[in-house]
Amino acid sequence: KKTIFSGMQPSGKLTLGNYLGAMKNWVALQDEYNCYYCVVDLHAITVPQVPKDLRKTTLDVLAQYIASGIDPEKNTLFIQSHVPEHAELSWVLNTMTYMGELNRMTQFKEKSQKKAENLNAGLFTYPVLMAADILLYSTDLVPVGEDQKQHLELARDLSQRFNSRYSDTFIVPEGFIPKEGARIMSLQEPSQKMSKSDENPNATILMLDSADAITNKIKRAVTDSIGIVAYNDEQKGIKNLINIYSTFTGESTEAIVSKYEGKGYGDFKRETAEVIVEGLRPVREKYEYLMENKDYLEEIYAKGAAKAHNKARKTLDKVYRKVGFVQAK
Ligand code: ATP
Ligand code: MG
Repeated sequence: KKTIFSGMQPSGKLTLGNYLGAMKNWVALQDEYNCYYCVVDLHAITVPQVPKDLRKTTLDVLAQYIASGIDPEKNTLFIQSHVPEHAELSWVLNTMTYMGELNRMTQFKEKSQKKAENLNAGLFTYPVLMAADILLYSTDLVPVGEDQKQHLELARDLSQRFNSRYSDTFIVPEGFIPKEGARIMSLQEPSQKMSKSDENPNATILMLDSADAITNKIKRAVTDSIGIVAYNDEQKGIKNLINIYSTFTGESTEAIVSKYEGKGYGDFKRETAEVIVEGLRPVREKYEYLMENKDYLEEIYAKGAAKAHNKARKTLDKVYRKVGFVQAK
């Protein structure tokens, strides 16, 4: 079986972007692959977090993995900080990454503009930690949204660089980016991607939003004054809603456009909200059930960390030997 690694940051409540861009695919891949799905808390602290919220969000994210249909028996579910090899490999890879490579990363540019008061080195080397996450598990495939493409490219470059500087060690990972749902946009600024760390609550649909919240947010979603449901780049807000609709129902964008011929944005928005509410309903219900049973979650992340650690240690021992560290006794 080929191996998959992916993760979400517990940096806020999960959004429709996270669900449609990544998690929905994780569920589809779990039968065919050996999957590691991680809650990446080391990544989350590259922007300021309130400690008690971080702790809660971390468990929340894990519960939402399971609520989305990721089977903890089939997959390795764990919390990144429980497996110290992520930070350790990241250090070695840091020494092989060029400043110029990291300077080009668009996520760093965007996030550092928003959080200019906390421009820390961790935010700059975020992509190196992500490369370590991936390479520790001999990952073949990384299912992510389009925003992570550039980071994945770095992981590939670093694996090849290590292999050629020392000897064959890492598998060069491939990205797996869905056709639909790859890039869900903000409801308020449809030229920007939807992000869980967005401070405007109307910009995102959360996976656990109530039916009312979803309906209201879609109602307020920014559109345009053209007034015709059409799929093009002049109408970015409508285009985004069509993409969301299509990813949930499997209907083509053309079919949706023709369904709303002669109808206004009001009808289209109301029905889009219904599609989202129904699509997320099972996830929300299962989540609520899981949160009543914290012991179960604990059992899952403990088992996951033990399994992940076992594999990660083997990789790291190999790396340490190859770079010339004396073996610990
Ligand atoms: P943050 O704002 O804290 O960076 P985020 O919403 O970007 O949060 P991440 O934890 O950084 O979420 O990413 C988790 C996964 O979700 C990644 O695979 C990423 O590609 C995917 N993803 C995030 N936002 C979107 C989006 N708008 N559309 C599609 N996929 C997305
Ligand atoms: Mg992100």
